[in-house]
Amino acid sequence: MSKRDYYEVLGVDRSASDDEIKHAYRQQAKKYHPDLHPGDQEAERKFKEINEAYEVLSDSQKRSTYDQFGFDGLEGNAGFGGGGFTGSPFGGVGDIFETIFGSGSPFGGFSQQRRNGPIRGNDLRVDLTLKFEEAAFGAKKEIKITHEELCSDCLGTGAQKGTQPVRCTKCNGTGTINVVQNTAFGRFQTSRTCDQCGGKGTIINDPCPTCKGKGRLRKQKKISLVVPAGVDTGHFMTIPNEGDVGYNGGANGDLLVYFTVKPHPKFKRTNFDLHLEFPISFAQATLGAEIEVPTLEETVRYRVPEGTQSGTVFRLKGKGIQKLKSTGKGDLFVKVDVTVPKHLTPLQKDLLIDYEKAMGGSIEKLGSSKKGIFKNK
Ligand SMILES: [Zn+2]
Ligand SMILES: [Zn+2]
Repeated sequence: MSKRDYYEVLGVDRSASDDEIKHAYRQQAKKYHPDLHPGDQEAERKFKEINEAYEVLSDSQKRSTYDQFGFDGLEGNAGFGGGGFTGSPFGGVGDIFETIFGSGSPFGGFSQQRRNGPIRGNDLRVDLTLKFEEAAFGAKKEIKITHEELCSDCLGTGAQKGTQPVRCTKCNGTGTINVVQNTAFGRFQTSRTCDQCGGKGTIINDPCPTCKGKGRLRKQKKISLVVPAGVDTGHFMTIPNEGDVGYNGGANGDLLVYFTVKPHPKFKRTNFDLHLEFPISFAQATLGAEIEVPTLEETVRYRVPEGTQSGTVFRLKGKGIQKLKSTGKGDLFVKVDVTVPKHLTPLQKDLLIDYEKAMGGSIEKLGSSKKGIFKNK
């Protein structure tokens, strides 16, 4: 069924003021109120149409969207809304209905539409600890989660098999009860949640024994996920629809898996780069040497040039971690640490003394006597 233009529905000009729109709405709504046309589906359809038009045209933002883009611009917003019966701009209209039709109008679908309408389920968060290598190379993991699912016995209605929830008689299925108060300042209409049905609008006489009438159950589920190479602590993955089931037919929430990456005994990680401290001897540093450097995947040979100072950092390009969702890898930074030997043999010590002498220094021979250098003074 194609929709009629909202201005046409209310019978107003496109340039109509807010007051004109409100006035036109009241006239039309009174004319087609379903209480005046019991069982008349055409009247009910018109009444809905009027409410929908008013919902859009009374809201300056929606109105300008509609003016610019038509129904398409309102996609997902429009539809049978009309929730304004509890909203402030309708206070007066509510009064009019109360006055004309008496309170407890059986036509109460509006607030119910909103209150009992589809609500998306909760997102869930789980934390997953990964080994350093799993994060670097990616991994297949299986996690156990607990989320709320629709009860399969009652299909979410909460009512025992073969029965259905029935409309709440106290609120006539709206879930709310309107209270009109007369005060010195005028009549005020407030609405509160129906205490008989708790706002659901329906009552379950025979609750489903499986879910005890809730329509949903907490269930454990195993989820397999493929962790991409390159993830790091603080990164997360979204697994759509594995959160809690929605309410009233609303979409499921998502499952968010947050990663924590365990440290590595050798490598430190900064984004996709790796850092390694590598000890070399004084002689290697002085003379230059080919060293074998471990990377995450293999051992690579690297030529340390002659005269390398302790603390010098060499960069091995592409020997870091796979970049997340990208090609290429980070780099490996190797910081050489020239170590001072602690336990030398007498021969090694002699050689070192000779070396020092050759360099023009002067060293008392300490030898194996273990005497301090101040001993003879
Ligand atoms: Zn159930
Ligand atoms: Zn109720």
